[in-house]
Amino acid sequence: LDNKEEFTHTTLATDVMRPRRGDQPLTVIEQEGMTVGDLEHLVRTTKYNGFPVITSHESQQLIGYLYRRDLILALENAHHNNEHVLSNSLVYFTLHAPTPSLGGANDPVPLRLFNIVDLSPITVTDHTPMEIVVEIFSKLGRQALVTHNGKLLGIITKKDVLRHIAQLNKQDPDSILFN
Ligand code: ATP
Repeated sequence: LDNKEEFTHTTLATDVMRPRRGDQPLTVIEQEGMTVGDLEHLVRTTKYNGFPVITSHESQQLIGYLYRRDLILALENAHHNNEHVLSNSLVYFTLHAPTPSLGGANDPVPLRLFNIVDLSPITVTDHTPMEIVVEIFSKLGRQALVTHNGKLLGIITKKDVLRHIAQLNKQDPDSILFN
């Protein structure tokens, strides 16, 4: 194979990541503006092991990754520790807490959960060859976030990679690339 030919055969992260074309968009958490109720809804209605945290839907800049189990624990603790944490409490995934407003005694208190975000999740760009993604997964990590110019595009889990390898093996038993 010459280089050019090899390149056309290389699967890239963008080919394996979710969402695929036509899928629902990624389930993400916005850094500011979501409520405790929104997050509880996320946990109730999805089964994902975690959620990318982004600055906003407009900018899609990746901040980190929040594990489902950490989110569930944090929400439980927050309710347990403070009766003013309510469904409509705003949640901040920011370094600095919002200035507390002088609300009434029964107003919902905001919640700051920045400390439970993994700020250095494994990330790859959309053009990273799967060969390298496989190498990364063989050494560490259960998921990698896929970005383009810092913007979040998708996610690849270890299972996605294993599924991809299985497919390759079926299509091309002589493939030695991933063995
Ligand atoms: P399992 O939970 O069965 O072990 P998994 O290891 O692939 O599966 P999950 O986090 O449940 O992990 O992801 C299931 C599928 O959904 C994968 O194909 C993954 O790419 C995709 N996925 C993971 N997180 C999200 C998310 N936040 N939004 C949309 N899709 C996601």
